Amino acid sequence: MHCQTLVLGAGIVGVSTALHLQARGRNVVLLDRQAPGNGTSHGNAGLIERASVIPYSFPRDISKLLRYGLNQQSDVRYSLKHLPKAAGWLLQYWQHSSPKGLAAATRAMLPLVQRCVVEHDELATPAGMGALIQGDGWVEAFNDEAAFAKARHDAEGLAEYQLNYRVLDRQQMHALEPGLHSDIVGGLHWLDPKTVSDPGGLTRGYAELFQQRGGTFVLGDALSLCQHNGQWQVDSEQGVICAEEAVIALGPQAPALFEPLGYRIPLAIKRGYHMHYAALPGTHLHHPVLDPIGGYVLAPMVGGIRLTTGIEFADSDDPLNEIQLRRCEALARRFYPLGERLDAEPWLGRRPCLPDMCPVIGPAPEHPGLWFNFGHAHHGLTLGPVCGRLLAEMMTGATPFTDPTPYRADRFQ
Ligand SMILES: Cc1cc2nc3c(=O)[nH]c(=O)nc-3n(C[C@H](O)[C@H](O)[C@H](O)COP(=O)(O)OP(=O)(O)OC[C@H]3O[C@@H](n4cnc5c(N)ncnc54)[C@H](O)[C@@H]3O)c2cc1C
Repeated sequence: MHCQTLVLGAGIVGVSTALHLQARGRNVVLLDRQAPGNGTSHGNAGLIERASVIPYSFPRDISKLLRYGLNQQSDVRYSLKHLPKAAGWLLQYWQHSSPKGLAAATRAMLPLVQRCVVEHDELATPAGMGALIQGDGWVEAFNDEAAFAKARHDAEGLAEYQLNYRVLDRQQMHALEPGLHSDIVGGLHWLDPKTVSDPGGLTRGYAELFQQRGGTFVLGDALSLCQHNGQWQVDSEQGVICAEEAVIALGPQAPALFEPLGYRIPLAIKRGYHMHYAALPGTHLHHPVLDPIGGYVLAPMVGGIRLTTGIEFADSDDPLNEIQLRRCEALARRFYPLGERLDAEPWLGRRPCLPDMCPVIGPAPEHPGLWFNFGHAHHGLTLGPVCGRLLAEMMTGATPFTDPTPYRADRFQ
């Protein structure tokens, strides 16, 4: 099989990239080792996070660091044996999280974040996926007056970004989400984001649109990629596929392909879990609710109320560890009345993260015809469509809608 462009990885990033290349006239084959939308893109919290204009940085507050050092927190947990391996990456992350570094990351990410909702809308409507997307934002809830006051202050500090949000007192919070525990003293309702009630289903819907428009999806192993007679070649269940150009969009698994090609890009994994819970009779969760202190989200999904956890630093292949989920579940039950667990075991996902909090989008410097699109960290669902557009514009010689320099692959050399 011959095609112009081979996109490796059918998560939200690869599927969106394939659609944008196709829209610009490329004949595209999309390859994954499983059906689309079953990697990290399956299990996230479903936030199209237009309000996260400041990237998720390494904490620099000493008291917070000391608390994390005890490894008893619900929002961040680490495996002791993993720490020595992660130390170099964590140091880089800490350095990039300085006020100057974070300001640079914020500037770099803003053009992407600003377009995230509109880019999803442009795909969701023709894909017929509108029913999976809700337009009423998400809620940050507090059961502590001091934390609520700090959050209001922090939100005021974001004035230059012109985000739309409402400050809700106790009564307004309970009017918005009647099921919330009476301890909740208030919250912030972020209005710009949209939310998705089945992120994996949305990714599959986009993949179906790609196929309806004439694209081909094949099962195969991206690690078989090699160069042959000036073309890129990969083995698939439908035989060998040759292409003039290839895109690596393998999310957390991208290093398995770019490292043997000689690239030293510091991509690390922040693991995270989810579990679904039944709604108790007479209760209905209307919006995703973030407990910023506990570091988890409760999101209404087609499969039940999904609790997603914060960060776990552990080896990518370590067995799943329920400690963090149990800690979050205990806190969540004090926020909202959850019924029984619905999944036999927790889902484990891996956020693909770069220490400067920006993804890698652009050409592979040493391999003509090879392109990268990975490392979208905490916001890959948010950024998939907009980053798909950016890479497609770069590959087809169109003027990119924003300067792609901050995302170049050689920035760590
Ligand atoms: C708990 C949790 C909550 C999150 N919440 C949010 C949120 O609310 N909003 C948000 O924007 N983001 C969120 N994220 C982050 C988001 O889910 C990821 O950034 C995003 O899914 C990454 O997409 P991707 O396409 O790069 O990777 P993936 O979805 O992992 O796709 C990579 C694909 O590559 C395929 N692949 C890998 N290796 C091979 C191979 N050798 N051959 C063939 N195929 C291969 C995989 O099968 C997979 O389909 C969350 C993440 C976690 C873990």
